[in-house]
Amino acid sequence: MELKIIGSVYEKLIEISREGIPNEICGYLSGADDVCEELHQLENISDTPEVFFNFNPKDQFAVTKEIREKGTKFLVCFHSHPIGGESLSKDDKKLLIDKSMKYIIVSLRLSVPVVNAWSFDGEEYKPLTISILEK
Ligand SMILES: [Zn+2]
Repeated sequence: MELKIIGSVYEKLIEISREGIPNEICGYLSGADDVCEELHQLENISDTPEVFFNFNPKDQFAVTKEIREKGTKFLVCFHSHPIGGESLSKDDKKLLIDKSMKYIIVSLRLSVPVVNAWSFDGEEYKPLTISILEK
């Protein structure tokens, strides 16, 4: 399966992940159809933001309203791993089980950021191929 992201959105995702170090950053990508056209960073209010993320509910409410008004959809839930690996962690797998959502991890463990995407089919997480579209 494929996940389509506009180039500028992909670059911004990497940029905010780097800026967030040492903490995890988190948020959503949204778009019409199945192309991720917009990035929404939400505040991470976890007590241990170096290793976990929790959305600020106020931000979540605001972005949900914004998306509803625009008529677009949430397509991807993303977060970064400043020191963690490129895959979903054990806790991620426990918590991120919405079948309609796709998930992105930006791993910053190496000098070059690594971006991976998954979807959950009800039984397991399947890797997605990321296609970067120009616009
Ligand atoms: Zn994680």
